[in-house]
Amino acid sequence: MSDKDYTRLFRYIPPVDEVLNKPAIESLAQKIPRMLVLSAVREAATRLRDEIKSGRLTLPAGIEPRDFLTAEMVNRATRLALSNNRPNLRRVLNLTGVVLHTNLGRAVLSDKARLAINQAASGYSNLELDLQTGKRGSRYAPVEGLLTALTGAEAALVVNNNAAAVLLALGTLAKGHEVIVSRGQLVEIGGSFRIPEVMAQSGARLVEVGATNKTHPHDYQNAITTETALLLHVHTSNYRIVGFTKETSTAELVAIGRAFNLPVMSDLGSGSLINTGALDLPAEPTVQEVVRDGADVVTFSGDKLLGGPQAGIIVGKKEYLDRMKKNPLTRAVRIDKFTVSALEATLRDYLDQAEARRNVPTLAMLAARRNELAPVAARLCEKLTVAAGAQARFTVLEIDSAVGGGALPTANLPSLAVAVQPGGITVTELAARLRETEPAVIGRLQDDALLLDVRTLRPGEEDALVQVLAQVLAGGADG
Ligand SMILES: *Cc1c(COP(=O)(O)O)cnc(C)c1O
Repeated sequence: MSDKDYTRLFRYIPPVDEVLNKPAIESLAQKIPRMLVLSAVREAATRLRDEIKSGRLTLPAGIEPRDFLTAEMVNRATRLALSNNRPNLRRVLNLTGVVLHTNLGRAVLSDKARLAINQAASGYSNLELDLQTGKRGSRYAPVEGLLTALTGAEAALVVNNNAAAVLLALGTLAKGHEVIVSRGQLVEIGGSFRIPEVMAQSGARLVEVGATNKTHPHDYQNAITTETALLLHVHTSNYRIVGFTKETSTAELVAIGRAFNLPVMSDLGSGSLINTGALDLPAEPTVQEVVRDGADVVTFSGDKLLGGPQAGIIVGKKEYLDRMKKNPLTRAVRIDKFTVSALEATLRDYLDQAEARRNVPTLAMLAARRNELAPVAARLCEKLTVAAGAQARFTVLEIDSAVGGGALPTANLPSLAVAVQPGGITVTELAARLRETEPAVIGRLQDDALLLDVRTLRPGEEDALVQVLAQVLAGGADG
């Protein structure tokens, strides 16, 4: 299209004010904020102009260009405004089977933790008030006693996440000095969290020792100088080195640390408070074990295997934790009242391990065996067949789910999925449409099927899942 042609057509695009006065748009502005309506009308005009310019929009015959473009703008603005009026953070049904899915918000909280957040949100609390003395209190007090009781450590501190915990610990204990780490433990967690980079950020100098597959106690000993401030052990939580390997254990590091009068820190990553072996999962070192082995500082996440809110938990010797509490960085990475409330509720469940396994959704989902998932999968398959059997084939399939969240990478969790093979649309198209529904549904694509792993389907979500799938397969999706 020549410049002339499209500038001629631009004249038919109605002015924004005129569109705002159309009855359909006026009634829309009664229902949703006017600001959203106005920006949607402007956006619709911009898009129409772009499409005309690029030749993507052709005007149909038999209708006045002005009438056509006005109707087009009203329709598009309405769709845009309604779409922008939906919350950006939406509910998602996780049918991936990945229990700790970082993209989907990691740990699902227990009912108690959820209620605690609700209570903290809807009124005032003694967040930093000691109710006994009436004086100022510590926001860490509600969880510190629980953490020391559960882990056997002398002291505890909680910050925004485990990345912040590692940064704070290194910056407090080793700034301007050397930290010795095995080459087999220079972990990247995802995003930009890599041990060498966090170390640089903290102001500590990394001293790498050993080889990727083997690091011996003497490797650490030989690297110790007057500049050494800390021996660091990083749990390789998201990968495994197998075969001809030797890792120096926390206990061995502690022995060296004692001999040279150096603190030993362990970044556990997931940090479980219960023996994962009891859940039929590969055994992870528990926080209690590492504390018992003598680690001076231990850090782990609140929203990985613990199954609580996002947090970085630090436990260990009082002298080191006291120094961290005085570091100004602690104030910058402090937790809010919602984290305090949800973490306290989660930790209370761990006072009785059987309670924790029942009430903490992460543990319950990880512990679910295939035979326990079978009735869930069968019922879902049946309901889907009744609701949408004409548009797709539904079958129950044996699959393995993953723990996720960079935890227990080698664990395989025998699970069951309902495989959906749509008739009219491709499976990629089906997955795309299910991201637009309310709630959105995320499954796993495999060949010509969308797999819905029932391990991560939460109680009460089944009917919503059946409804949105039936709606999408019937072609009624609003996307
Ligand atoms: C996950 C992980 C971290 C980062 O924890 P976040 O709570 O996600 O910040 C740090 N170190 C290790 C070993 C981890 O596995």
